[in-house]
Amino acid sequence: MADMFIRNLTHPHRTPDSLPKSATDRCRWRCSACDHEWEQTVLNVVGAGRPCPRCAELMGGAPLSRAARATASGVVPQQERGLRIL
Ligand SMILES: [Zn+2]
Repeated sequence: MADMFIRNLTHPHRTPDSLPKSATDRCRWRCSACDHEWEQTVLNVVGAGRPCPRCAELMGGAPLSRAARATASGVVPQQERGLRIL
């Protein structure tokens, strides 16, 4: 997890190794698998065990997949179902 770390934006002199997993420091990360870069807190990456958001989406089964987000927000793509029938 720490090998994805680029820099700490909240406390630039600190690294995830010297922070608790619950730290809300905002950091910049880079995925070693797809080179995607993103900003997220230590808590949401290390603490939640949630690595690259792009890889998570590609794998489909992620907790915050597109379908899960749509369901959680009450947006059910019913039109999509109709289009498939046609
Ligand atoms: Zn990735």
